[in-house]
Amino acid sequence: MSSPVPALTSHFADAFPELSAPSRAWQTPEPRLLHLNAALAAELGLDEDWLRSADGVRFLTGEAPGPDARPVAQGYAGHQFGGYSPRLGDGRALLLGELTAPVGGAAPAPGLPALRDLHLKGSGLTPFSRQGSDGLAAVGPMLRELVVSEALHALGIPTTRALAVVATGRTVRRQRPLPGAVLARVADSHLRVGTFQYAAALVEGGHAPEDLVPRLVAESLARHHADRVDADVPALALLEAVVAAQADLTARWMLVGFVHGVMNTDNVTISGQSIDFGPCAFLDAFDPRAVFSSIDRQGRYAYGAQPQIALWNLNRLAETLLPHLATEPNDAVAAATAALEGFAPAFDATWQSGLAAKLGVPRTEASDDVAARLLGLLAEARADWTASWTDLADVVPGPSPTPGTSAGLPDSAGVRAWREDWLALAPDPERMRAANPRHIPRNRPLQEALDAAEDGDIAPVERILAAVRDPFTPRPDATDLAVPSGADEGGFVTFCGT
Ligand code: AMP
Ligand code: MG
Repeated sequence: MSSPVPALTSHFADAFPELSAPSRAWQTPEPRLLHLNAALAAELGLDEDWLRSADGVRFLTGEAPGPDARPVAQGYAGHQFGGYSPRLGDGRALLLGELTAPVGGAAPAPGLPALRDLHLKGSGLTPFSRQGSDGLAAVGPMLRELVVSEALHALGIPTTRALAVVATGRTVRRQRPLPGAVLARVADSHLRVGTFQYAAALVEGGHAPEDLVPRLVAESLARHHADRVDADVPALALLEAVVAAQADLTARWMLVGFVHGVMNTDNVTISGQSIDFGPCAFLDAFDPRAVFSSIDRQGRYAYGAQPQIALWNLNRLAETLLPHLATEPNDAVAAATAALEGFAPAFDATWQSGLAAKLGVPRTEASDDVAARLLGLLAEARADWTASWTDLADVVPGPSPTPGTSAGLPDSAGVRAWREDWLALAPDPERMRAANPRHIPRNRPLQEALDAAEDGDIAPVERILAAVRDPFTPRPDATDLAVPSGADEGGFVTFCGT
């Protein structure tokens, strides 16, 4: 019988020793599986029953990763709130290794199996840990990453995913003592803009061979943008692909009212998957300036600022690639500029067609206009983003609007005039119901569920998970995720997941 221990390759560790620091996960005093993502386990071909066993849980905490695993902490740099940190890296995380996925994941390049990173968060100190940090994570933030990433996945948005959350039995000291946890997450890779920044700086400082960045480019193309592996200028093909992927991702986030909250360059993937859910939140009242994170005092990562900050981050990626875009510096800058100019049209394509789908109409100039006017009305009324859209889906094609939730658009003259113009486009309610989620992980119920989990009751988190995994179906047990608790949840604050 074959061993149930999943075989982990050490592809990244072998290919990029310059970016890898061998490290081990800490022992877990009293591991207790809080959640296993059975659907993801099945997708990866992993044995669910075994993962739930004592040995399986020790695999998930990284204590028993199997004989062939060579866990490493990955190096990366990053601009955090605009300030550059030359050495961040996995200070409390580990790449256990790669799983060879039978299905899913990006289409692999010829000769390379579809690899998926199995990565831990909260597994102890590593060579990249900063002084005074503890290498640990708490139950609440790790369950938060689980819930939010499952919600994004169910909404069809590219994202890293949580395979399991295991309570460690260790106390983590934050403002108050908290129960500790390890998150096992799966990603198409953990290559980040910050990985390129770190690699470029290593080469610049003479600490790594000249070919490091080109090798990273080749790896990135092979794993994530395989249709471009044979490009004449691989670095340019990669830049264009990442620009397109991040533009699409940002627009998709915004269509569901998602605010990432900490779009530092180390939290931007080359794959185009969402990653590192710290102080993220879903909009309630529509307001382009909406900020939830306690540390984002300037609104740098506000809801409506996300496209411009994504582009700023992509500019930082472009800088690391300049020497590989052309032999003449001026030509390299021109090529980078042209690639970055692809952001706005790529963002608009997803954003406008997404808004048209939410309105239940094909995208046309008229639909763009109707969408723009609706955004103005939503902002003016501070109407709830999610409930306003599902209200619209529910009242179509009624001639006089039935009252929706109190959180939606008001019944004003302006709204009535807009509604007539929209109805003239003959919206399709089925299309709307497929494009407008009923349930999002709303801030207050999610926080209450995380608090309960901290006190040992996981049931409220399971209820929210079930609802957000099936976001388009109305559920009587999840009305608190469909409409805000008050008229407006304004003032809700999220904290970094440390
Ligand atoms: P994040 O805010 O999770 O994107 O992390 C930013 C950087 O801080 C990364 O280098 C992390 O590894 C590091 N970091 C965050 N929390 C901890 C912690 N508790 N212990 C050690 N390093 C941490
Ligand atoms: Mg991060």
